[in-house]
Amino acid sequence: MTGEDSPRARVKGRRALVTGGSGGIGTAIVEGLASEGADVAVQWYRNRAEADRMVEVVRKFDQEGIAVQADVLDSKSVIAMRDTLHEEFGKVDTLINCAGINRDSIFHRMTDAQWDEVINVNLSGVFHCCRAFVEEITASGHGRIVNISSLVGEMGNIGQVNYAASKSGMIGFAKALARELAAKRTTVNVVAPGFIDTPMVRKIPDGVKDKILNQIPMGRFGTPHEVAMSVIYLVSPEADYVTGAVLNVNGGMYL
Ligand code: NAP
Repeated sequence: MTGEDSPRARVKGRRALVTGGSGGIGTAIVEGLASEGADVAVQWYRNRAEADRMVEVVRKFDQEGIAVQADVLDSKSVIAMRDTLHEEFGKVDTLINCAGINRDSIFHRMTDAQWDEVINVNLSGVFHCCRAFVEEITASGHGRIVNISSLVGEMGNIGQVNYAASKSGMIGFAKALARELAAKRTTVNVVAPGFIDTPMVRKIPDGVKDKILNQIPMGRFGTPHEVAMSVIYLVSPEADYVTGAVLNVNGGMYL
């Protein structure tokens, strides 16, 4: 069964760009969008092989897919990505900002480089991507932007002042842009995942992992699929009237 023929083709006809589409959560979002009827451009930074693999997954659903390289912290690189997409894929109506990094350190040892890199990729990257694509997204008359933030942006976390600031910033950014774009029938929302079972979380030492699990009322980490399904909802027509919202996907860890 193809993505478009699926009885659950909730995002049928959409053309989406997923930044960080080669990552743990991004790959689930790419697959989710394609399985629900969207064509998907998969942005990668260093992991071309994973982006190429995701393009194959998209095509298995009979949707159009393309892998495209960009460094989101560099606005010129983002413009070049847009030019490539215009030539080889077409214009997009949906942007999922999922590219992100962490460079953790307790505050008094945090370096300028750790601060700058995280703010520049996670927050300025969202600015660069939204600015590059906003014209075509709003011109579609049914635009969608979803920022993948984090519960750390809502509740803070030891060793993550830079990451928390960037992820909080993504929320304020989305709320302001939601107000600007509402009249153009474009929604801007945030998904704030808690601890999700990805390579990022698997790297946490076992003792620390147990302490985190004790703080999650549902007693388990989330899955990338669960994050992806929240994104699908916000992109679907079911969420036409939802904008400026923060959808927590965290097992009750932050309410
Ligand atoms: P991940 O597997 O490390 O994926 C990160 C993605 O960002 C990769 O696709 C990577 O591309 C891309 N990327 C990194 N630097 C980039 C740059 N300068 N320009 C463009 N792309 C860049 O991480 P993840 O766990 O899937 O996380 C995805 C998003 O969810 C992040 O924004 C993260 O903050 C957020 N999040 C994750 C969790 C969690 O528990 N995992 C929880 C809350 C929020 P390449 O691999 O191609 O280099």
